[in-house]
Amino acid sequence: MREELEQIKREAAEGIRAAGGVKELEELRVALLGKKGRLTGILKGMGRLSAEERPALGQLANEARDFIEGGISAAKAELSRKATLARLAAETIDVTLPGKARARGHYHPMTTAMEELKRIFLGMRYEIAEGPDIETEYYNFDALNIPSDHPARDEQDTFYVEGKDADGGGFALRTATSPVQARTMERGRLPIRMICPGQVFRADEVDATHSPVFHQMEGLVVDKGVTFGDLKGALMVFAREFLGEDTRARFRPHYFPFTEPSAEMDVSCFKCGGAGCNVCKGEGWIEVLGCGMVHPRVLEMRGIDPAVYSGFAFGMGLERIAMLRGAISDMRLLFENDVNFLNQF
Ligand SMILES: [Zn+2]
Repeated sequence: MREELEQIKREAAEGIRAAGGVKELEELRVALLGKKGRLTGILKGMGRLSAEERPALGQLANEARDFIEGGISAAKAELSRKATLARLAAETIDVTLPGKARARGHYHPMTTAMEELKRIFLGMRYEIAEGPDIETEYYNFDALNIPSDHPARDEQDTFYVEGKDADGGGFALRTATSPVQARTMERGRLPIRMICPGQVFRADEVDATHSPVFHQMEGLVVDKGVTFGDLKGALMVFAREFLGEDTRARFRPHYFPFTEPSAEMDVSCFKCGGAGCNVCKGEGWIEVLGCGMVHPRVLEMRGIDPAVYSGFAFGMGLERIAMLRGAISDMRLLFENDVNFLNQF
């Protein structure tokens, strides 16, 4: 019996070493320690031994059982440890590997220019105003002091829309964002400090500098004691922030129906600084916007007393501004959305 116990222990040790998985270990356990297992059979037969033999053999048998149980559970623990290590190895992420770059889009140069302009004027406490794309002839022309025989009203320049308003006036796609100025003044909340960026429509043929739809941004300030000096101050802030700190400006007298006096603003070329180059066509100066003091008659028409209030207005074409800043030579590029072009910005 002593030898048989030694034999079982040897076989158990071998079986444990050879076992490739938990299932085999379990089979081994059942074969030796299960109800009908070999060691269980020996333990059952203890009763037949003599009183002298029983304690020594009993102790040996118990040792054998502890040996087998311990061996099997240690082997199971080892298998599970190896399995965990293998899984961790398989799931390892090498954080030093370069990431997979995902192509991201970015803002269109027009959007960038628009947002930048908004930021600059919001910083000067201007509000953003909006108006309809389809405008009455009244707001698009009359309210801006544009006489009925003015060439701007020509059907060749304006997209008229069918229908009549309550006063029998016609509709048109707005040719400028100026109607928003008229609507804002009419609301009667003074003082006014606003900008109105938006799309406008003119019956122009498409070429390098024209498009039937383009964007403008106009600004309007109405308050007591507003002077041309305030106008220049605000536009200089815009020019320096948008085009560069060293930008200089000059104002040339001009004519617009809704401002008096009126001016066009030129800025020193941001590329050559005024020496003359291809961007400024050798002039050193670039025309960027039209501006002026709001015509007293325009204030009066909106119910604002020109003896008490004065104001200034300005307006610029955003495509032109974006093209100048991005050295873009053809306006069509801004509308075609060729990714090879857009990716340069
Ligand atoms: Zn230049």
